[in-house]
Amino acid sequence: MTETTEQGRKILVVSAHPEPRSLNASLTAFAVDHLRAAGHEVRVSDLYAMKWKATLDADDFPDHTPERRLHVMDVSEEATLAGHLSPDVAAEQERVRWSDAVIMQFPLWWFSAPAILKGWIDRVFTSGFAYGPAVPPPYGESAPLAGRRALLSVTYGARADSFSPDGVHGDLAHILHPLQHGLFRFTGMAPLEPFTVSGANALAAERFTEARTAYARRLDALFTSAPVPLDAPIRS
Ligand SMILES: Cc1cc2nc3c(=O)[nH]c(=O)nc-3n(C[C@H](O)[C@H](O)[C@H](O)COP(=O)(O)OP(=O)(O)OC[C@H]3O[C@@H](n4cnc5c(N)ncnc54)[C@H](O)[C@@H]3O)c2cc1C
Repeated sequence: MTETTEQGRKILVVSAHPEPRSLNASLTAFAVDHLRAAGHEVRVSDLYAMKWKATLDADDFPDHTPERRLHVMDVSEEATLAGHLSPDVAAEQERVRWSDAVIMQFPLWWFSAPAILKGWIDRVFTSGFAYGPAVPPPYGESAPLAGRRALLSVTYGARADSFSPDGVHGDLAHILHPLQHGLFRFTGMAPLEPFTVSGANALAAERFTEARTAYARRLDALFTSAPVPLDAPIRS
């Protein structure tokens, strides 16, 4: 069945790789070109190129003074609701708010996202913006970021069958659960089945071509494919 593409949507691609000639950078560039050619508006947060500060600390809250204990959730929510976050965080929040869909492109590092992407999440998804007592309860249509779609595009070195329920590393769904559930679902975003490239350390040219073709199909279905049900297994 051919999936239709909804045109003219706004997509934020968050890309986390230190090398502009990497496979991950290539997939980011491919997605941007493909989505723009399909009529979408695309913005890119290339975290290494931006020299994104990966650690959440007191500098994120310009009004904070050292006399006061840094209770991160409280201070974060106050700064968010007052509009007094550091400019880099405020700019990224505006990009998320602007978007109809967020794509995260990254290599799997130690069964997780690279620290710079984790740091983007820690710093950007503040209390009062993505969750918290002053905003509607998480999950569902009233959650702060509801209405947005979320796609992980992940490369990893292991073979695909290593990340399966019977594989040596277990189910990829469990490894990506913190993002699919802890981040996307919790804040109201609809997680799609992740796009993955396995065996990514030695990718022959024909496999790269196959990967782009498969990714193009997933991008075409960004606004039409069904979100993954909670705890569904992920094909890799
Ligand atoms: C700190 C660290 C931790 C890791 N932890 C894990 C882990 O927990 N589990 C796991 O499975 N793996 C792990 N890995 C492996 C990691 O996931 C892969 O190295 C990564 O996904 C490869 O993506 P890359 O963008 O870095 O690839 P690159 O090194 O840039 O490229 C990989 C391959 O893609 C090809 N390629 C790149 N660009 C193109 C292009 N434009 N056209 C054609 N071919 C291209 C290259 O020729 C090469 O063969 C880890 C690696 C590191 C450094």
